[in-house]
Amino acid sequence: MKAMVLRELVRLPDNPAPLAPADLPQPVPGAGELLIQVSVCGVCHTELDEIEGRTPPPRLPVVPGHQVVGTVVTAGQNVTTIRVGDRVGVAWIYSACGRCAFCRSGNENLCADFVATGRDVNGGYAEFMTVPERFAFPIPPAFSDAQAAPLLCAGAIGFRSVKLAGVQDGQAVGLTGFGASAHLVLQMIRHRWPACRVFVFSRSAEERAFALELGAAWAGATEADPPEKLSSVIDTTPAWKPVLESLKNLTPGGRLVINAIRKEEADRDELLRLDYARHLWQEKEIKSVANVSRSDVSGFLALAAQMALRPEVQEFPLDQANRALLELKSRKIRGAKVLRVA
Ligand SMILES: [Zn+2]
Ligand SMILES: [Zn+2]
Repeated sequence: MKAMVLRELVRLPDNPAPLAPADLPQPVPGAGELLIQVSVCGVCHTELDEIEGRTPPPRLPVVPGHQVVGTVVTAGQNVTTIRVGDRVGVAWIYSACGRCAFCRSGNENLCADFVATGRDVNGGYAEFMTVPERFAFPIPPAFSDAQAAPLLCAGAIGFRSVKLAGVQDGQAVGLTGFGASAHLVLQMIRHRWPACRVFVFSRSAEERAFALELGAAWAGATEADPPEKLSSVIDTTPAWKPVLESLKNLTPGGRLVINAIRKEEADRDELLRLDYARHLWQEKEIKSVANVSRSDVSGFLALAAQMALRPEVQEFPLDQANRALLELKSRKIRGAKVLRVA
């Protein structure tokens, strides 16, 4: 089967083609697993973190990709709930132990044995992949394959971020960074809490204009002062400056939720500006978002179908995966990028 594989960790500015085309044997599903023929796979900022070694794959080569939509072509032994021919999605959560306290309380995203799709095992930048039945998600018919792909990570982790932010109707909520996840979060907040005002911060004029198109109350530069203080801010950027700027903008008791698997090193010195009185005093909180649970993925898919969410997607052929990744790195973003595999 055709695939795009990561053979060694690289820095993207030095190597604009980190993934190489490869011809791999088609995987064989084990007991309780499905073989999926991949239709599309979303491109996520976490792929950049894998390629550049901030969250390195434990083994190389690996096939990246964790927003996979495809059709079940073979069901392994003991598969009971999903049939051959079903359209399913695969998200960042590939498996978890199922026995620890985190797993038993629905927080399998925090399991010590969390296995990530496309990092710890092969993912969806390929014609076929296998996945445990318990971690495959039926895709609501309302969505095309390409529309469904970004719901599986950008949307599902956005859903988790909003939950962790504790958003309530009528609040002022900030989003700093406005890529694949935030453009879905904005629509989700406006649907569920119509009296909320959403303030978007981005260094990109295009992203700010896109946010206003989607109904943001205001959009400004990363360091701009919003017209009012914010009950919560969700940060989807890879940088440190937005962390301090967001803390500055919180109300007393406000919460910053950082939705990023790793931050990059480039502007780490910004942290030296941290001022206790200005950024943390008055019971301000910081919380990170780690991975997703199955209920985040299925809950978000159901909500997205109910609210007729239409993600903005830009398609690339599988063999152009490197170009899609480079555009993501240089933040040429409008909505979500999706690879067309079949
Ligand atoms: Zn992702
Ligand atoms: Zn566990």
